[in-house]
Amino acid sequence: MGHYLGVTSLPIHLYDTRRRSVVAFEPIHPGKVGIYTCGPTVYGPQHLGNMRSQLLPDVLRRVLGASGLDVRYVTNITDVGHLVSDADDGDDKVEAAAARTGESVEQITRRWTDQWATDRRRLGCLEPDSVPKATEHIAGQIEMVQVLEAKGHTYQIGDGVYFDVSTFPRYAEFAGLTLDDHEATGRIDNIVDKRHPADFALWKLTPPGVSRLQEWDSPWGRGFPGWHIECSVMASEELGRHIDVHTGGVDHVRVHHTNEVAQSECAFELHPWVNIWMHNEFLDLGGEKMSKSRGHILTVDSLVERGIDPLAFRYFFLQTHYRQQQAFGFDLVEASGTGLRRLTQHATNARDEVGGDLLAPGSAGQRAEELRKQFWSALVDDLNTPKAMAVVSTVARDGELSHADRWSLLGDFDRILGFGFADAASVGSGELGADLGAKEPEVAKLLAARQAARLAKDFATADRIRDELAAKGWEIVDTPQGPTVRRS
Ligand code: AMP
Ligand code: ZN
Repeated sequence: MGHYLGVTSLPIHLYDTRRRSVVAFEPIHPGKVGIYTCGPTVYGPQHLGNMRSQLLPDVLRRVLGASGLDVRYVTNITDVGHLVSDADDGDDKVEAAAARTGESVEQITRRWTDQWATDRRRLGCLEPDSVPKATEHIAGQIEMVQVLEAKGHTYQIGDGVYFDVSTFPRYAEFAGLTLDDHEATGRIDNIVDKRHPADFALWKLTPPGVSRLQEWDSPWGRGFPGWHIECSVMASEELGRHIDVHTGGVDHVRVHHTNEVAQSECAFELHPWVNIWMHNEFLDLGGEKMSKSRGHILTVDSLVERGIDPLAFRYFFLQTHYRQQQAFGFDLVEASGTGLRRLTQHATNARDEVGGDLLAPGSAGQRAEELRKQFWSALVDDLNTPKAMAVVSTVARDGELSHADRWSLLGDFDRILGFGFADAASVGSGELGADLGAKEPEVAKLLAARQAARLAKDFATADRIRDELAAKGWEIVDTPQGPTVRRS
């Protein structure tokens, strides 16, 4: 069965990590789909690589939504339980940040949660339907550990309650490994009493005589939840036990998602717990590791500081398939920014020519409808965004298309692209005309970045850019075609 997309009924195919193949997508409940994404650990800024793991589900939900499904999108906030070492010992990341900066846990988690939400918006991501916080789901986590305990999947040692992987024979299957693989390259931690290196903490106990900033009473004693249990609980409380799609970065396959699957399938007695697992490959910084511990982290702000419109990063993201590594470079994102400005120029010209009315899908010319089909066909083929972007470029430049056809396509495609063509300022209008980008590239970039900030309601950044332009001798003027600049 296909789903309505544009003019065509096209079946949607997605790559499922568990089955290691592209499979036909069918919602569990007809007409509805639930998507869960592992969200940020809020002890510092999310880098541009992290944001790739928000952009993938944003495209996914837009495609599923365009196919007529009622999408519920949930991504969480990890505000406790993610340990610095990613093994089962070491400090909690949030707690460690509080100790380092002298701030309260609330100050830290609020600041980085807000920053992340702003960054998502600046990258054109739609608002999630729900953003649960791990600390608001503690009772559910305790309950789930109790269920696992009652079913014989846990054991307790001095340091906490652990999941016993030997009770779940499928444990290593999810990542395409064996238990020996997990043992050989197992998480190195100092929890000597663990029965198997792959066993993982469900509840960590506060050592006697110690008091932590974030801890709760539990049947096993005072402590805090393991990181993996958080996601299983938030996903199932928000979306029901059987989940359509779960996404995250590819680094999560081996440990975090393997553990989520183990505890969820055991607690819920359900297989598969998640129908389709989607993982984005990494954004690669070459020699420069984008580690949060190194201090120089590449964020959305790093783009804005260079006058790059954050939406250029969205355009850049769309140019590579999500299952391929993507090499980062400011020059590459700047080139995407140029592509975005040209595209916006074509889209807004066509829009303004036809007065903004969008032809209904199916009523454009024959060539236009052929291009529309190519665009959607690429997307339903495991979100082939580079191929879809090639169609977008053709549409922008094709001399045979009428303005009405061009706007009909680009306006329609923007449901997925997320560039906001319908509301975008006409590019290149005003005093310097279409030459602004060519004559004053720095100024054009700043103007675009300010406009993007305004669209994202990030008025502090917008004002900062206005001041920066003023300092360079440029005044922003609002025209019916949108903002432009003149020499002050
Ligand atoms: P964290 O805040 O560390 O829990 O990470 C948030 C998300 O970013 C997770 O889904 C990670 O898998 C993902 N991630 C981390 N580094 C990268 C990267 N360089 N490229 C793409 N995704 C990443
Ligand atoms: Zn998770």
